[in-house]
Amino acid sequence: MFHGRVIYYHHIAEAPRPEHWFFRSAATLGKLRSDMEYLLARYELISIERMASGWERGRSCPARAVAVTFDDGLHSNYEAARLLHDLSIPACFFVTTATIDTAFVPWNLRFAHVLSTARASPAELDAIAVPRQGSIARRRWEQNLRSTIAQMPPDRRDQELTRLAAELHADDSPGRDADVRFLTSRQLREMRQWGMTIGCHGATHDTLTRCNDGERVDEVVRSKARLEGLLDAPVEFFAYPDGVYDRAARDLASEHYRMAFTAPSDVGSPQDRWRFPRHAVEAVPIRRAMSWWFPWRTRAARAAKEALGYT
Ligand SMILES: [Zn+2]
Repeated sequence: MFHGRVIYYHHIAEAPRPEHWFFRSAATLGKLRSDMEYLLARYELISIERMASGWERGRSCPARAVAVTFDDGLHSNYEAARLLHDLSIPACFFVTTATIDTAFVPWNLRFAHVLSTARASPAELDAIAVPRQGSIARRRWEQNLRSTIAQMPPDRRDQELTRLAAELHADDSPGRDADVRFLTSRQLREMRQWGMTIGCHGATHDTLTRCNDGERVDEVVRSKARLEGLLDAPVEFFAYPDGVYDRAARDLASEHYRMAFTAPSDVGSPQDRWRFPRHAVEAVPIRRAMSWWFPWRTRAARAAKEALGYT
């Protein structure tokens, strides 16, 4: 049994944003600092490279080893990296490469922005059968809608988001939100000088299980090449967008990366380093998050993976 654990964050907020569909679960810089202090006192915080080489040398790893990672390459991760550097903690930042030095906003953040800025009146929502804000039915409706949109090809997804923004009287320019900004190549190079690792999180945050062969290569392989060109350094680690992968995505990752990481909703397997599970700690107290280790490896999740051909 391999003992290494990997935790992950996304945006690191200056102040909580409970009204925002995506940023509401973000950790603040203060929480990140206290999480790190908690972990420093009880665990051994190691780099993702050290975890990978431990695996490669016969799956050896310190018993309480934890690696810290961040997904989506949001601009706020720059301050997070500076804090970790001050604390001498290494971390890996998984970036969505189409956002680097461009105005591109991945669909998942555009979706969150549209939902967060919806201004339709209750009567208008009733007319289009959208459940009331704050209800359990509304939450379920939002999650189902996100799952449906995640499975659409990019052009249909764009149309659907445009339609949704109009229907909900929402703002459809996520770039207006100061938090929807992404790390630049200059920042990424600086973060590397601080001892941080830069990993790949796809090109556009597309859902790998809906990609055809060419799209999958764009997301997993060409994105890596672009990032390596920007950093002038090898990129060895991948995090599946939304933690979603299938055998084709896993096999492609295994050809091009040392390790690839999933998300906690996935059964993953610490026995397979190209579908290595991670633990989301941003929205829960760190003490509780660490004691919930591997709770997602349920019988049902395992059965679902086995149906996909994993045993
Ligand atoms: Zn992501």
